[in-house]
Amino acid sequence: MGVLEGLQPERVFHFFEEISRIPHGSGNTRAISDYLKAFAEERGLFCRQDELGNIVIIREASPARKEEEPYILQAHVDMVAVSAQGVEIDMKKEPLRLKVEDGRIFAEGTSLGGDDGIGVAYCLAVLDEQTVSLPRLEVILTVDEETGMEGATDIDLSMLRGRRMINLDQEEEGIFITSCAGGARVDVEIPMEREVAPGKAYRFLEFRITGLVGGHSGMEIGKGLGNANWLLASLLCGISLRYDIRLAQMKGGLADNAIPREAEAAFFVREADLPEILSYAEAEEQKIREALLENDPGFALEKVCHDVTVSAPAYTRAATKSALACLCKLPNGVVAMSEDVEGLVETSLNLGVLSLRENCLRLQYAVRSSVDGDRAELCRHMIQIAEEAGAKAVVRNAYPGWAYRKDSPLREQMVRIYERMYGKKPILEAIHAGLECGILAGKIPGLDCVSVGPDLQNVHTAEESMDIESVGRVWNYLLEVLKQ
Ligand SMILES: [Zn+2]
Repeated sequence: MGVLEGLQPERVFHFFEEISRIPHGSGNTRAISDYLKAFAEERGLFCRQDELGNIVIIREASPARKEEEPYILQAHVDMVAVSAQGVEIDMKKEPLRLKVEDGRIFAEGTSLGGDDGIGVAYCLAVLDEQTVSLPRLEVILTVDEETGMEGATDIDLSMLRGRRMINLDQEEEGIFITSCAGGARVDVEIPMEREVAPGKAYRFLEFRITGLVGGHSGMEIGKGLGNANWLLASLLCGISLRYDIRLAQMKGGLADNAIPREAEAAFFVREADLPEILSYAEAEEQKIREALLENDPGFALEKVCHDVTVSAPAYTRAATKSALACLCKLPNGVVAMSEDVEGLVETSLNLGVLSLRENCLRLQYAVRSSVDGDRAELCRHMIQIAEEAGAKAVVRNAYPGWAYRKDSPLREQMVRIYERMYGKKPILEAIHAGLECGILAGKIPGLDCVSVGPDLQNVHTAEESMDIESVGRVWNYLLEVLKQ
């Protein structure tokens, strides 16, 4: 007997429990994909499984609703498989150990995979629905969303007729997602010429920025946080315009899509300039501290001066100056805010990783925009700045965004039904991070899309849980929408 048996809505929880018996962490989705295929075949439904394991299932319209436009339902089948410390479980092979506590469902010692197993369970329950007459349903179930949306990127959707899609990968009931950003990676390499270590008239300085909050380069870019790479580069650029400095080392950040918390550089300066450089740096440090006081109060700049001569290889004064100037000409942070959605960052970029290589200064950016044309324009702008400085910029991994539609019949209908059922309006949210909806919207021309889901907590952790009543309300709501 199942742990969830007796919970309402029965079929939704039945399928959720079935799914939880099949390990389905990202990259380990073959078995769950085969289960979904068997589900469709048992019911005589059209099913297409691709090489990655993505699944498309189509249920034809009930006779009374043949003339209507189809609905697309979408969820991802993979989950973030994590266990708490000390818990002995092989999540590649063993089922989840579901438990019910205080009106919520957990998995003992591990993540639950409510993200996005509940979306998959809704899809299967709708496909299995016999009591309600429905238009044609086209269900998209993707693999490997959590590791980089590889499934959505690869899936072939040419067999679909629908132009309106309900994505079921949202974690808060009552908040509808209506737009997301697309993105790209941009790598810039600025050539650098080396020289032997400067002579006795030079001292060796080390600067290190620490204590910043950091965060996701999409969700957190509009919060006024400090970017360690950018702050350090601007500071050094200011110094290099005034004094003779020669970079020896410079690095910062861990990933292009994370706002870097720390960065450091080591460089030679003329001994005679040292006092002025230090007082210039202190004044700049004070300005930065004041600017970050509210949002990033932990900012610190460490300055270490080596009295003895250090014999480290350095880059020439000219190379140092022009590389820093090029870096500071490139934009960073928020580029544009949305005119349609208040408070939404529309276009941004993040200098996530900075490193000094043998012959170049290497910069790695994550660029984002909910408007694809603006993202492409920003990338072109970066290439132009780089080329003017004799550097090279390469754009890779570009993926489309999901722009907010002023005119969205699906959203209007869903808001109307929500208001009628809940007695209040849902919150409409646009996010400045990538979702599968963006990638799928790039494959379905004119797609009208809304993302919804029940209340989940602590997703991607071993404490993940799902609210039982919320699952029920969202199910009733979803059926109401599909009925119309
Ligand atoms: Zn998800």
